[in-house]
Amino acid sequence: MAELIGIDEARRRVLAEVWRPAAEDVRLDRALGRVLSEDVTSPVDVPPFDASAMDGFAVAGTAPAELRITGESRAGWPSSVGVEPGTAVAISTGAAIPTGTVAVVPVECTARLGGSVRVEEVPENANVRRAGEDVLAGTVVMSAGRELGPAAIGVLAGVGLAKAPCARRPRVSLVATGDELVEPGLALAPGRIWSSNPLALAGQIARAGGEVALSQTVPDEPRATREALERALASAEVVCVSGGVSVGAHDHVKGALEELGVAERFWGVALQPGKPTWFGVASRPAGRALVFGLPGNPVSAMVTFHLFARPALRALQGADPRPRTASAVLDGPLRRNPRRAQAVRCALSAREDGWHAVPTGPQGSHVMTSMLAADALAMVPTGQGELACGERVRVELLEGAV
Ligand code: AMP
Ligand code: MG
Repeated sequence: MAELIGIDEARRRVLAEVWRPAAEDVRLDRALGRVLSEDVTSPVDVPPFDASAMDGFAVAGTAPAELRITGESRAGWPSSVGVEPGTAVAISTGAAIPTGTVAVVPVECTARLGGSVRVEEVPENANVRRAGEDVLAGTVVMSAGRELGPAAIGVLAGVGLAKAPCARRPRVSLVATGDELVEPGLALAPGRIWSSNPLALAGQIARAGGEVALSQTVPDEPRATREALERALASAEVVCVSGGVSVGAHDHVKGALEELGVAERFWGVALQPGKPTWFGVASRPAGRALVFGLPGNPVSAMVTFHLFARPALRALQGADPRPRTASAVLDGPLRRNPRRAQAVRCALSAREDGWHAVPTGPQGSHVMTSMLAADALAMVPTGQGELACGERVRVELLEGAV
């Protein structure tokens, strides 16, 4: 770890290695969280026809009048008769406007008298939704790179699409290293711990739009580590390793990656937590692969995944990889570190003067519960002394991590 690089430089080196994603059509009922690979143009007007915005009566004039009811237009069942002076057609919300309609009088502004109806004065065009008012045929309703949430899926369905062109989900292989690791649910021997990183990271991968191809756990042994990494590289275009990436006598990840010809792009970030983070690129018969060596401490693994691997997964889908940031008022002092920037887990609250950030408690990189209340990472730059209570700090939202 010759020289530590900054967080921004590390992210720049990661993003320099991503490639254009492949695309596939995805049924809308499976498309939540997927990223559009192309702009989507609406083939139709929405609404497709002039429609009523209210239950009431379609009328041919604006003045108060007593009108003969000549028909009904229901949602899905347009009226065969139009309106003309002296007549009205009963109409439901969403029903097609009969020909000759000048306005729809809401039912609350009418009184029924047998086969007639007395209507109050109404402005021209009142309660009529015009065709194309929401979406005009031929316009781009959504651009490539957009992540499909419920509203986006609703809009795509509303213009009649059953599928959306989406970036393929990047496949990610996980390798957890450590003699001490025991699968949750099995009994612990002395000195052992339950392995939490593969499950927490798998959650972050899914939330970043990736797909776990393979998850392996290996002891601190060079050959087992190398073989697991070989399988990982054969099965996915992104590999995340947890642990074994520091300088200890039993850390074999770097050596194994070197033997496999994975080219280092950085090792060591001026960041707390997350100093030993490693990143490199492998060339495989199936194409390039990105390899992230994440520190084993559970908080470090999650934070470094969020800061470095998540942007890569998003960029590999054509989505904006930049973190969402805000400025927040610190509700407690934070001691600066002269050599490393700090990513401090904070809870955010909205106040009169904007966002406020308060650290979630002890910040040890093994204190996994400190992630539970964390809405954001307060990014404290290197420096002397402390950031005082009341000072402003830049926060990066911990989307998809908590
Ligand atoms: P390492 O990066 O391998 O030196 O590990 C740093 C710390 O993280 C040690 O306390 C490990 O026991 C712990 N650790 C490593 N892998 C995991 C894991 N999969 N789940 C929980 N803790 C882990
Ligand atoms: Mg270890």
